[in-house]
Amino acid sequence: MRSGWPGRPCGASGAAEAALERELAAWSQRQDDLTESATERLLWAHVRVGQHRFAKDVLSNCGRACVFCGFALADGDGPSLLRASHIKPWKDSSHRERLDVTNGLAACPTHDAAFDVGLLTVDRDLTVRRSARLEAAMGRNDGVRRAFEPRALRSSLALPTEAVPPGESFIRWHHDYVFAA
Ligand SMILES: [Zn+2]
Repeated sequence: MRSGWPGRPCGASGAAEAALERELAAWSQRQDDLTESATERLLWAHVRVGQHRFAKDVLSNCGRACVFCGFALADGDGPSLLRASHIKPWKDSSHRERLDVTNGLAACPTHDAAFDVGLLTVDRDLTVRRSARLEAAMGRNDGVRRAFEPRALRSSLALPTEAVPPGESFIRWHHDYVFAA
C-alpha cells in the first residue's frame, strides 16, 4: 500500500500541523525567493502534512483497529503499531488520491505488509482473499499459518458501521497491479 511513501506520519499535534500549514502558505507567497533546497524542503513538508492528515483520517475511519484481524493496542496516546496505508500505492496515486480516506486501510504491521506486497487483497463486498502464494506458505510454515489462518484473519474486512468503505477504483487497482492471485 505504501511503496514510495515518503515517511511515516510525524505524529505532530493538530496545532503543530496548523502552524506548519501557515508557514507553508507564507513560504509559497515568497516562492520566487526560495533556493532550490528550500523549495525541496517546502515540498516535502507539504507532503508530510498531507500524509499526517491522511493517516489520522484513515485510522479514525477504521475505528483504530486492524481491518484484517481487529488488532488494537492503544486506548490512549501511546503507540498503536497500526499503519494507515494506501490501497492504491502512494507513488501511483494523484495528489487527490493520496489524501482520499477511501484509498486507505488501517492494519497491524504483519497484515499491512502482506496487503502491501499483494499476499492479501479485499473484494468490493469486503471479502478478504489470500494469494495462492500465501496459502502455499501457510501449508509449509507454522508461523505463516498462525498469522493468516481463519482464526487470525477475518473473512470480511472489519470496519465500523459508520465507516466509509474502500473506493472501488482503488480496490480494482490493487487487484490489477498489486495482488498476486
Ligand atoms: Zn492485523
